[in-house]
Amino acid sequence: MSTEYSDFQDFNLSKQLHYAIADLGFDKPTAIQQKAFAPILSGKNVLGIAQTGTGKTFAYMLPLLRELKFSKQIQPRILILVPTRELVLQQVEQIASYAKYMSIRVVGVYGGTNINTQGQTVAQGCDILVGTPGRVYDLAMANVLKFKSITKLVIDEVDVMLDLGFIFQLTNIFELIPERRQNMMFSATMTDEIAALIDQFFIAPVNISVAISGTPLENIQQYCYYVENFYTKINLLSELIDHKNVYQKVLVFTATKKQADIVFSRLEERFGHEMGIVHSNKSQNYRIKSIEAFESGNNRILITTDVMARGLDLDKISHVICMDTPNYPENYMHRIGRTGRAEEAGNAILFYSEKEVSAKEAIEGLMKKKIEELDVPEQVERSTELLPEERLRPGKHKNPNRNLKKREGGGAFHEKKDKNKKVNLGGKYRRELKKKYKKPQKRGDKIKNNRKKK
Ligand code: AMP
Repeated sequence: MSTEYSDFQDFNLSKQLHYAIADLGFDKPTAIQQKAFAPILSGKNVLGIAQTGTGKTFAYMLPLLRELKFSKQIQPRILILVPTRELVLQQVEQIASYAKYMSIRVVGVYGGTNINTQGQTVAQGCDILVGTPGRVYDLAMANVLKFKSITKLVIDEVDVMLDLGFIFQLTNIFELIPERRQNMMFSATMTDEIAALIDQFFIAPVNISVAISGTPLENIQQYCYYVENFYTKINLLSELIDHKNVYQKVLVFTATKKQADIVFSRLEERFGHEMGIVHSNKSQNYRIKSIEAFESGNNRILITTDVMARGLDLDKISHVICMDTPNYPENYMHRIGRTGRAEEAGNAILFYSEKEVSAKEAIEGLMKKKIEELDVPEQVERSTELLPEERLRPGKHKNPNRNLKKREGGGAFHEKKDKNKKVNLGGKYRRELKKKYKKPQKRGDKIKNNRKKK
């Protein structure tokens, strides 16, 4: 790391920027700010691998603001593309605070709201435009927005952007913006898709990385529970978050939007007055309200998905609870990174089922650390209800060795607690019922028996 930029005094900034830094209470530049300053200032293309919370927004804004001169021109000179409306609002707010003492106009545009109103705002003139790719492109097509004066392009959260399928809007925009421009891209992870995008559109970017992958933040306590299925996971979640004094601000991650909805509807009766939900199928107003209610402390619990939560700058989360075990270990790191921020103590709790054992082990492998296992409290009701994806029939398992492992008695890839071994034998509940009532108690059993008789 360059020692040259270890202090904001080394950046040769204007008084206005120093005042803003003092107002914001930033003592010293973060790692990404130190590393990105010189290459961005020199006009090079930059690829930054850094997640939210590392101070990446200020990392690219600082050199850009340092160079941005007052202008009365209408069309923007800096274009910042971000994947979601929430991020637009957040970035606009952050940039406005950085440029508080400068005469800089920052405007945010995003889909789902009246394009004419936004067009009128843009037409009044702006220096920095922050927007989602779809809306930015539509405004350009409507001839309200002109790209000819753009010299700096920032694409933030590229991985999420590609994940959401914005590649077409992005490439359309690239083709319209003047070729002589500086490109800055930021992403939490490096993926093959990003590499391909860079290959196609960007010349020799300087790579800067402050990725946290693999290093669990020291101040985060991590625990896990073995839970046999999704609905039992909901029962466990309900049991845990009922301890209001401990679970003061809880961010709950689910694998899909549908699962987020199920968790919400199951817990609504008990926690509805203090619980919100945010995912990309919810209306924009609903999402903003949910996030605000959680941020302000009116709601104690927020249910979300990976894509929605990434990039949100949520403060002081006491617990991150993962209802599923992410297949990509990095996603687990991102999730738990939402707690324990700014050196505060945080807690991360992972629920994993039999199918998720290998994903959990991959996470532990990346962290080089085992997650402490806790026993599911006795009073948590074990559900026999299954999600369609949990009801995979034999022969449809993705892992062909799965049944083999069971036959060998290994159960999984690691030694489980006795209690869990029993549960994992499969069908225990049914067998017990059968023993007790001497006949099948479930519809499925009857159908199977009738088939056998034929
Ligand atoms: P970001 O990664 O851009 O989303 O920033 C995360 C948070 O860190 C924001 O709330 C910023 O205001 C804050 N931040 C940015 N730079 C610094 C810094 N040098 N010192 C302390 N906090 C910072």
